[in-house]
Amino acid sequence: MKKSTIHKIEIIPTQIMLNEPFVISKGALTHAKITIVKIYNSDGTYGVGECCPFRSIHGETQTGTVAFAKDLAKALLGSDPREIHNHVALMDKMIVGNASVKCAFDMALYDLVAKMNNMPLYVLLNGDRSKKIYTDNTVSLLSKEKMAEKALKFKEMGFPVLKVKLGERGYKRDVERMEAIRSSVGYDLPLRVDANQGWNYLDALRVLHGMKDLNIEHCEEPVQAGNIVDQARLTALSPIPIMADESVFNHRDAYKVLSQQAAHMINIKLGKTGGICNGMKLAGLAQAADVYCQVGSFSESKVGMSALLHFSMAWDNIIFHDMDSPLMHSEDP
Ligand SMILES: [Mg+2]
Repeated sequence: MKKSTIHKIEIIPTQIMLNEPFVISKGALTHAKITIVKIYNSDGTYGVGECCPFRSIHGETQTGTVAFAKDLAKALLGSDPREIHNHVALMDKMIVGNASVKCAFDMALYDLVAKMNNMPLYVLLNGDRSKKIYTDNTVSLLSKEKMAEKALKFKEMGFPVLKVKLGERGYKRDVERMEAIRSSVGYDLPLRVDANQGWNYLDALRVLHGMKDLNIEHCEEPVQAGNIVDQARLTALSPIPIMADESVFNHRDAYKVLSQQAAHMINIKLGKTGGICNGMKLAGLAQAADVYCQVGSFSESKVGMSALLHFSMAWDNIIFHDMDSPLMHSEDP
């Protein structure tokens, strides 16, 4: 095998203004603070990766990302980029958690190795090019009138499915929001919802039953992540399938959640798994359990979405795609 070494690593933090504030139960976001990582091979070929940590979900910030990325870069320089498994193991040894920054490096390595092999990433991952993939578009958590108006606009733009942010404490207003959206877009357009841990057990039970006739595909993260007791009893009683998002970062979390029947489905994000290498383990575990998955994003640009798309092509149990984050950006970096 011809020798190949990581010659240079660039870390590029940047900030993209969103077209309008993105509002979820945990607060509003006005800018996507992304960090791009470029890893160069000795012959000048490079791979690109990206991360966009959410403080309230990852406990990571852009400043912290850049600081740790410098340490990671030092550790990887001079090694063979093709040994991705070893690089991921080294990153995990260097720091616990910090899935987001690790993802940027992992993604750049996969991109680089695919380019070195002169093949698209999905081929490297044994993916299927014929898989049909379409994204939802997300309606922020606002007044019911504004949400109904936004949903109709997205429908008219041609989006085949919408995701709706909910999770306000107390259950009535969230049910009213969904009723308003249904009367504006009609009964047939697929809708999925995401509470981002906003409800408690009782709120969640009432909202889920309140929405049971509104044709909802699934509900992401109804209660506090880590509250596996309530997640399990909700999953048992919910008329709408429950999807674990914040409560499943990686394959180890998935084992815990699935073995305790605390979700019906899993939302995989490369920014949670720490990238493709560990994402494959999570998707494989879900496949073994015959569990459907979604792939989702934080506020990554098309760099992160491209990697996620290729990743999805490798798994036929990934049937939902929440990849709209670049659509919210005011510019394409
Ligand atoms: Mg979610």
